[in-house]
Amino acid sequence: SGVLYVVATPIGNLADLTERAKDLLSSVDLVAAEDTRHTRKLLVSLGANPSMLSLHDHNEQGRIAQIQTRLQAGESVALVSDAGTPLISDPGFTLVRALRDAGHRVVPVPGACALIAALSASGLPTDRFTFNGFLPAKSKGRRDRLQQVVQESATQIFYESPHRIMDTLDDMMTVFGEHRDVCLARELTKTFETFLSMPLGELRDALVADSNQQRGEMVLMVAGRRETDLDQAWPQAQAWLESLMP
Ligand code: SAM
Repeated sequence: SGVLYVVATPIGNLADLTERAKDLLSSVDLVAAEDTRHTRKLLVSLGANPSMLSLHDHNEQGRIAQIQTRLQAGESVALVSDAGTPLISDPGFTLVRALRDAGHRVVPVPGACALIAALSASGLPTDRFTFNGFLPAKSKGRRDRLQQVVQESATQIFYESPHRIMDTLDDMMTVFGEHRDVCLARELTKTFETFLSMPLGELRDALVADSNQQRGEMVLMVAGRRETDLDQAWPQAQAWLESLMP
């Protein structure tokens, strides 16, 4: 039977499309895309004109049987999202899971991914990290989620949108405190690519002072908690003092 290729596309700079992705997108029988109009433009630029199917959060379940039928007929299918790697804060999980369970071949065609691009150039520790996707839209849910990771020593990575970045930074100040190191990576691979690395309180002030820095696509990374962080030093000192008392 056929193969489902999970194909990464660029996150801004079109030159980041790999040779392998180009070849596949020009030769598969079907391209399943998050937004067919958006992806059609990419395909046209490659001189490709395959048949297309939309696959987004609201119809993913229903598309599975259709795609499975095509694979069983020996056809090959490429799954792409609007930008970057499919399934990473993008549709496709239900499909990939169902096809694997049914014994189909699912083949990754790696390429751009915003979280990896951001982390790799951030200067924050990369040995251990947690990808948290998008935070909840409402402040209560957002703070709860942040509370769950405040003790973590691994670098924490978040996707964020321009209209929520200030609210998120305010909630992060409440939960992490103003001294926690963060890095905001904006407009990766594009003309106005920017990395801002500084303590949380300073980043908030910098974005207030220059609202241009609140714009565009962004990845927000928070350094993991260190043993020497002040909030942790206190309980340790207290325990040590108590151990000295008779
Ligand atoms: N699948 C994509 C990937 O592999 O990174 C992510 C899709 S998610 C719907 C879109 C979010 O990814 C944006 O809101 C932003 O947080 C992040 N993102 C995508 N492209 C970016 C870029 N060029 N610079 C910074 N962040 C980006």
